[in-house]
Amino acid sequence: MGFTVAIVGRPNVGKSTLFNRLIGERQAIVHDFSGVTRDRHYGICEWNGKIFNVIDTGGFVPRSEEVFEKAIRSQVQIAIDEASLLLFVVDITTGITDLDLEMANMLRRSPKKVLLVANKADNAERIYESSEFYALGFEELFPLSSISGSGTGELLDAVAKEISEEVNQEDESVPKIAIIGQPNVGKSSLLNAFVGEERNIVTNIAGTTRDSIHTRYKLFGKDLILVDTAGIRKKGKVHEDLEFYSVIRAIKSVDEADVCILVLDATVGIEAQDLTILAQAEKKKKGVVIAVNKWDLVENKTTMTSKEFEDRILEKTAPFRDIPILFISALDKTRIHRLLDMALEVYDNRKKRIPTSELNEVMLEAIERHHPPSIKGKLIKIKYVTQLPTPTPTFAFFTSNAKYVRSPYKNYLENRLREAFDFKGVPIIMVFREK
Ligand code: GDP
Ligand code: GDP
Repeated sequence: MGFTVAIVGRPNVGKSTLFNRLIGERQAIVHDFSGVTRDRHYGICEWNGKIFNVIDTGGFVPRSEEVFEKAIRSQVQIAIDEASLLLFVVDITTGITDLDLEMANMLRRSPKKVLLVANKADNAERIYESSEFYALGFEELFPLSSISGSGTGELLDAVAKEISEEVNQEDESVPKIAIIGQPNVGKSSLLNAFVGEERNIVTNIAGTTRDSIHTRYKLFGKDLILVDTAGIRKKGKVHEDLEFYSVIRAIKSVDEADVCILVLDATVGIEAQDLTILAQAEKKKKGVVIAVNKWDLVENKTTMTSKEFEDRILEKTAPFRDIPILFISALDKTRIHRLLDMALEVYDNRKKRIPTSELNEVMLEAIERHHPPSIKGKLIKIKYVTQLPTPTPTFAFFTSNAKYVRSPYKNYLENRLREAFDFKGVPIIMVFREK
């Protein structure tokens, strides 16, 4: 993965409606973390087997009048710098406005591919009217209706065409670790604590996006790659504090890593943005470790403090609670070594293969102890379990009446899997099939 589509355009043209249309029903399939707000501005879209990130830049514009146009301008600039492709949305019902023209000027100069979307093409008359937007000077124009969905297929085809297969190629042999988190939580301090004076660099490798650098290190005797999509090594603080910027950088880091170290500030705790990034990592089946940094600033620490802290975090990440949490200080270099070990442990967990015999021994016993409840008189009998040869842990349960297996029972099985075989920090996929 690693293709990011940004939706830009002035307010009220229908960006968020289009975003929801593109993200569509898929979003409902993947469970949400309880702490995440419904108000989402980024997600994952799948079309003809191609998977890409979609970001609604409008969701990041502050709703205050005076900062408005300036904020929109900087949002567009960041989208140009960071996204792989831009969808420039305009509104057929209003025609071309001054702000459309200004944005068109910025976008035409961009080296990135721009697809012009003429939204609210609800009927033939409007589709006809949309040709006025050719005046903005873009080659391709996609009239569509975000509300009804008509015309979105053509747009998605055009997007999918831009995604090359090679984006998904990666070197499987060396663990790729990304340090992610909000501004000022201590990401660059942590990176420095890891690598010291950069004596340990083996090689710099270009990442899959233009602006990311992967650096291969030998740290504490371990061979690994630190993914630096966030540019934390050569810190340009220009945009750092803009939410949109840090989100798009984090999304790209998640895409390029096997394991993400999510850094939190102990004096702040876990926030909505952390949870949405975490949800992103879970959806993409990446390994996760949470590092609660600046632990040195927490006074009167007892074991209870860290336990309470941990509970509070896991309450919010539920139902994915099997996440290792470490309390560190990048400044004092406390538990830094342990953190890296844990990240590598999660990497191994993600690659783990459980022999079928062992798996069945444990799981069939668990199923025997607690049978799936029959639903609508349908008897559910799980006969056999096997781990599929996929890049991340996926378990197939062969069963009668597969579609009647409900979430609580799935959770029971997942918990048993996690108890018996260590999958700490790793999202698990479970599928139920009829033989
Ligand atoms: P944003 O500010 O660009 O994110 O715009 P919104 O997605 O909030 O949409 C602004 C308004 O346009 C809302 O009232 C939408 O219901 C409406 N809208 C969005 N897409 C369409 C469309 O395809 N057809 C029509 N008729 N209205 C639309
Ligand atoms: P980034 O924006 O996430 O890369 O955060 P920085 O690494 O730049 O750190 C932000 C601020 O927090 C700086 O002033 C750091 O010195 C401070 N900081 C980082 N880690 C720690 C820590 O473990 N303890 C304390 N007390 N301060 C820290």
